[in-house]
Amino acid sequence: MSEPFIISDHTFHVTCSIGMSIYPRDGTDGGVLMRTADEALYKVKEEGRNNAAFHTPEMHAAAVEFIRLENDLRDAIRKESFVLHYQPQVDLQSGRIIGAEALVRWQHPERGLVPPDMFIPLAEEKGLIVPLGNWILREACGQNRRWQQAGLPVVPVAVNLSAMQCRDAALPETIRRILSQTGLAPNLLELEITESTLMAQTQTLPARLMDIKNAGIRISLDDFGTGYSSLSYLTRFPIDTLKIDNLFVRDMIDDPKDLAVVDTIVDLADNLHLRTIAEGVEKAEQVALLKLLGCQAMQGFYFSKPVPAEEFARMLTEGRRMDSPETPVPATENTPLVTG
Ligand code: C2E
Ligand code: MG
Ligand code: MG
Repeated sequence: MSEPFIISDHTFHVTCSIGMSIYPRDGTDGGVLMRTADEALYKVKEEGRNNAAFHTPEMHAAAVEFIRLENDLRDAIRKESFVLHYQPQVDLQSGRIIGAEALVRWQHPERGLVPPDMFIPLAEEKGLIVPLGNWILREACGQNRRWQQAGLPVVPVAVNLSAMQCRDAALPETIRRILSQTGLAPNLLELEITESTLMAQTQTLPARLMDIKNAGIRISLDDFGTGYSSLSYLTRFPIDTLKIDNLFVRDMIDDPKDLAVVDTIVDLADNLHLRTIAEGVEKAEQVALLKLLGCQAMQGFYFSKPVPAEEFARMLTEGRRMDSPETPVPATENTPLVTG
């Protein structure tokens, strides 16, 4: 299969994934053998495709578990058994809360609160992300509107969009409908899209995002610096904010290279008139450094974890602020790029 196929002067390369089962070890009839071979195939695909694997008993356990999770998820979408937590976004200069990112959790009857990494990929694969994503959008917009109606300070809410949602031609219309149903002003909604989503959809997505952007909604690029980091799309896509990935923020104190990356991202954003938000900020030193580099905002455990809606409302009501850290910035020898 690794030999190319030539069709009408075009060369085509295909990859091949193979799952294998053995009679009678993995099954004694055709149906069971096909199913166990399929479980092995699934494993191959999960581990990057273009390979072959024999079936093992663990694969069966994993497949059963997977099917159960899928059934549970379908059920949960029907019953809307999800909850959104909100992580405050804080202005680095004033220390004030300037927004919230909505992060979904699944309220599972036996497993408790399931984090998104455990079910968003599954929802994508099984074609369930559009109904789930629509629920998330409606809930986040509705919640923000309720906070306003309760007289809380007005801040925008950021909602993550998955790749599959971005592929949906109806996305701009769906968003417009949700905004009009919930009564939320478009400028109070920000959509987070990852670099890899952008890069995978360079043909259709620019126009779709432009449509969304023209409706007054802001767009931010999530996990910036970890995807393909092709700079051309920064000018081609209507982006407002770069979210500097956790990874760089985490290591910027100890690793001058990561510090250099953060410094460069902030400069790049500045020159393109984009906003920067640092993600995953856990330490006072990081806050001090980010401020020095000219990054505008941050979110992270240092100020607050993602919290239930009531708790976020309390923070807004109390006007909670981030104290300016007094920690001295590391010696300039370690931070050669911080020149002001
Ligand atoms: P993300 O959009 O980059 O969200 C940031 C993640 O970092 C969140 O994890 C958040 O809890 C975590 N985080 C925040 N501050 C800190 C910190 O100081 N230190 C560390 N170590 N982590 C921090 P979470 O909630 O588990 O979400 C993981 C990912 O799942 C998100 O990454 C996003 O890609 C996806 N996701 C979450 N909610 C949704 C959603 O509603 N829709 C879609 N499509 N994806 C979602
Ligand atoms: Mg995000
Ligand atoms: Mg992120």
